[in-house]
Order: sequence, then C-alpha cells, then structure tokens
Amino acid sequence: MSIASQQGGGTGAMRQNIIELLEFPRQWIPDHIELEMCPYSGLYNQTDHHCERCTYKSECHWLFNNGEFLELCKRPSPTLLASLELALWLIDVHRCYDTHTRHCSCDLCTWCQQTEKLLTAH
Ligand SMILES: [Zn+2]
Repeated sequence: MSIASQQGGGTGAMRQNIIELLEFPRQWIPDHIELEMCPYSGLYNQTDHHCERCTYKSECHWLFNNGEFLELCKRPSPTLLASLELALWLIDVHRCYDTHTRHCSCDLCTWCQQTEKLLTAH
C-alpha cells in the first residue's frame, strides 16, 4: 500500500510534505510536556476526567490523534492540515522568544517557519 494510492484530495507531493511536517511535533511534544504527575505517561485517556482537566490536555490529545504514521497516510488533506495547524499552535505556546529570535535556525524554529509557509500557501 503506497501513499500515492491513498486518495484524500490534494497532490501526493503536498500530502507527503504535510505528513513529513507532522513527524516533528510527534517527537517534540512528548519531550516538552511534564509527565511526572501523569498517571498514563502521556497516553491520553478519553474516559478519565484527570485528562480533561490536565494542563497538557491539548498536547496529549493531539498525540493521541496523530500518533500513527499509517493512520495519517489514510486521512484527507484538510484533516492533515488542521492537525498541522494545531501542532504549530501547541508548539508555539512553548517556544521562548527570548532564545528563539526571528533569525534563530534551530530545528524547532526551522520547523515553525516551514509549517507557517505551507499553511499560508494552502
Ligand atoms: Zn529556535
């Protein structure tokens, strides 16, 4: 089963690009949420009120929804774009603008720039 065979709207190259950009937050988010107090080690539990009230609810929920590469390949492009937009928002909340200035070229800032560019273009 190839990615190109999945019809979800949008060109294959664009979809590939979105899926590649979704990879970064899947690595980054778990490293930047504090899991000491989490009874589920960051594995979002839909049925527990603890998760509903948690500070990292949005982050864990995002990971819960976007954890599987093969699942992502099956989704329509607008859904992928929405996930990417949410990931950018979640990551931007944690980005410190004192250290990550406008000209910063670290992985995080590079990802944010690429993502913003892609989202603006579509
Ligand atoms: Zn940076």
